[in-house]
Amino acid sequence: EAKASGGNLFRFFDPDMLDIVNARAAMEADLRLGLAQQQFVLHYQAQVNAAGKTIGAEALIRWQHPQRGLVSPAEFIPQAEESGLIIPLGIWILQTACQKLAEWQQDPATSALTLAVNVSARQFKQIDFVAQVQDIIRHANIDASKLKLELTESLLVDNAEETIARMNQLKMQGVGFSLDDFGTGYSSLSYLRRLPLDQLKIDQSFVREMLNNTNDAVITRTIIGLGQSLGLAVIAEGVETSAQQKFLVQQGCQAFQGYLYGKPSPDLIYTKG
Ligand code: C2E
Ligand code: MG
Ligand code: MG
Ligand code: MG
Repeated sequence: EAKASGGNLFRFFDPDMLDIVNARAAMEADLRLGLAQQQFVLHYQAQVNAAGKTIGAEALIRWQHPQRGLVSPAEFIPQAEESGLIIPLGIWILQTACQKLAEWQQDPATSALTLAVNVSARQFKQIDFVAQVQDIIRHANIDASKLKLELTESLLVDNAEETIARMNQLKMQGVGFSLDDFGTGYSSLSYLRRLPLDQLKIDQSFVREMLNNTNDAVITRTIIGLGQSLGLAVIAEGVETSAQQKFLVQQGCQAFQGYLYGKPSPDLIYTKG
């Protein structure tokens, strides 16, 4: 016992602590191996307009693990961020997504589709992030106006000037920006107004409860109104029922994403509406 051997001091070799450290190191090594062995895949989930027509997609990463099967990003993105592996992984994600976009742009049936890519805060804050994205765009030879980067509010809390400058550099190439999970973070309205955003993405937690919970309905309606007054497009994520879609349409929402239209899959499922 720590108490018996030395008052309130920590035990240096706490076996539980060691387990945590070991598990983390093992996970990191596993991620590194997975990256080297190309075990990651992107799935694509449709984004539709009010007429039900597919207008774009979001790229969502999965880990095709040799032992664990298909692992969801919630189980490894946080560790990838912590360990810094999100940097090479993030480059792979952008390259793979831009290759897909290039494919789509070569086919008249899919050439108008946009592709949204999630970017983690740590990735965006890399000193050469803008140059990397520009490089990848050039390499893939795509129309960059169809590429949309999804950022979260967590990225916006510090160093506003730098964030805005980076966004503007990419905007000059035509790249768009969507604020993911909107409503769950802390961004102030005055700050929001200064950001060169194109879209707000209503967090799925509000969509899930808005038909049962007045607060969530009010939040949803407020975000849609905010988008209208700031001149930003609004998309709702996590739309699972036509009742949810109907309510969102009534509030003025114009774009939708969720299982109602299609689950994320290796090949985008799209409808002409
Ligand atoms: P997110 O960007 O907010 O993505 C939306 C999540 O909701 C996805 O989970 C998607 O599969 C799920 N979803 C879509 N429609 C529905 C629906 O109708 N109902 C429900 N219940 N869920 C729905 P997923 O793919 O597990 O991704 C989880 C999170 O992991 C993402 O949240 C994002 O934060 C992160 N992530 C995923 N891919 C990437 C990536 O390539 N890079 C980075 N940095 N993060 C990623
Ligand atoms: Mg997203
Ligand atoms: Mg989201
Ligand atoms: Mg989310």
